[in-house]
Amino acid sequence: MAVKKFICIGCPKGCSLKVEHTEKTIHEISDYSCKIGLKYAQTEFTEPKRTITTTVKLKSGDLPFVPVKTKKPVNKEKIFEVMNVISGLEIESPVRVGDVVVSNIAGTGVDLVCTRNIKNVAVR
Ligand code: SF4
Repeated sequence: MAVKKFICIGCPKGCSLKVEHTEKTIHEISDYSCKIGLKYAQTEFTEPKRTITTTVKLKSGDLPFVPVKTKKPVNKEKIFEVMNVISGLEIESPVRVGDVVVSNIAGTGVDLVCTRNIKNVAVR
């Protein structure tokens, strides 16, 4: 049996979680202080996910880039593919918080959305 350790990010306490497993099968999860840690260890072990935050090129905006994020966490193994899609994007201003830049990005089932309002410099 092997042991994999994770630091829980559910709160500042940062419990050190232990997952005892044989290959992909979990036998026991220990050292968590609440259900958030238990769930976090299960997800991190079986299907780790991350929210991606980055920027996208913007045409005619007050700023040359708009900050964006995935609306929900995406599978860690899809991050490279998602970043590849994002690196090829250039969108028109104006944009508003929550505008969908790409729906179902890289087939993840998750939308990429704007996190800042940016005006079009031509419309004042
Ligand atoms: S297990 Fe619970 S108490 Fe411990 S870091 Fe995670 S959220 Fe905080």
